[in-house]
Amino acid sequence: MAENNQQAEQLDVLASTQSVIKQALDKLGYPEEMYELMKEPIRMLTVRIPVRMDDGSTRIFTGYRAQHNDSVGPTKGGVRFHPNVTEKEVKALSIWMSLKAGIVDLPYGGGKGGIVCDPREMSFRELERVSRGYVRAISQIVGPTKDIPAPDVFTNSQIMAWMLDEYSRIREFDSPGFITGKPLVLGGSHGRESATAKGVTICIREAAKKKGIDLDGARVVIQGFGNAGSFLAKFMHDAGALVVGISDAYGGLYDPEGLDIDYLLDRRDSFGTVTKLFRETISNEELLELDCDILVPAAIENQITERNAHNIKASIVVEAANGPTSMTATRILSERDILLVPDVLASAGGVTVSYFEWVQNNQGYYWTEEEVEGKLENVMVGSFENIYNLARTRKVDMRLAAYMVGVRKMAEASRFRGWV
Ligand code: GLU
Repeated sequence: MAENNQQAEQLDVLASTQSVIKQALDKLGYPEEMYELMKEPIRMLTVRIPVRMDDGSTRIFTGYRAQHNDSVGPTKGGVRFHPNVTEKEVKALSIWMSLKAGIVDLPYGGGKGGIVCDPREMSFRELERVSRGYVRAISQIVGPTKDIPAPDVFTNSQIMAWMLDEYSRIREFDSPGFITGKPLVLGGSHGRESATAKGVTICIREAAKKKGIDLDGARVVIQGFGNAGSFLAKFMHDAGALVVGISDAYGGLYDPEGLDIDYLLDRRDSFGTVTKLFRETISNEELLELDCDILVPAAIENQITERNAHNIKASIVVEAANGPTSMTATRILSERDILLVPDVLASAGGVTVSYFEWVQNNQGYYWTEEEVEGKLENVMVGSFENIYNLARTRKVDMRLAAYMVGVRKMAEASRFRGWV
């Protein structure tokens, strides 16, 4: 029983991120009060959203918006639609957004939202109603200078468009900077859709250099075929790597000779489901333990835990998802000399280009795809080097180093404001 409790605590994403925040602040020499400020969001709103369903019935959905810390600037982060969304998860996700903003040095704090729902079982019109209802429910605390939402798991540019439209109606003016990840015609940015995967690709390239692995011919396994996973599979394939395994929520596909990525991309649905079309599938657990050089968890939390960390064969693990590796597993991988590039660094490409989108909205002048990608490249390479070097000099793993970089600006800003 005690063991079960311990295990549950490790899989509690909020508790585990709090423990690393504590370590990072201790290493940087901040007092306990700073931890007290940072361990929870400064604001957390829970809303109940009544939605008229297509069959005429009304369903009440629960939604959340967490704002972790706004000492640096407005809070920023995605909204996820998923049946397993919980208050604790949204809180942890908002903390991770603060860390990402600190790591890539954006003028933001972290925020995150979620609605408990399963968009795979909802119609387009029901999704529109729940998206608009959510914006009405949280409109008081969000806005282009307060808190800026964006896409996350199972949300996309269409959902951002409905949310933008609802917000513009409530506020009676057009505010493209209210939300990012919008369609291009509504003020979106070139390169935003593929930005998370681009950032992950840059981290993989840099990590491979450190480990002396040639990407050309390297064997890559990607868990998850959503926004991050699917673009990443394409980028890895284009870079000459062999994508030997991919998966979705229902299972995985494996081919030691390399999967036909273009075919799979063509067949995936908008939720990243593709394995249902195949008879020969493997489980997600088997996928993670496949023989490969680079493993990329790009789905959901708690996939690499103490149960399977000893069996991971990859020499590099790059976290494209938020929170895919437990803290015990982080330690096991590090002891096994597997280079782990943590989520708060590896997946920061999305929010970086969201920031570029917001800047373009504010200035009313738009950049080309090359400009956006050049800026993203500089940010990601610089952030990777910074954290890799800090990990070496302070003799800590890259997760702790990333947390140290991620909390520093927020802690300094909170101190200058006289909060702590
Ligand atoms: N949801 C993405 C993330 O977890 C992007 C957030 C944003 O673009 O604001 O980083």
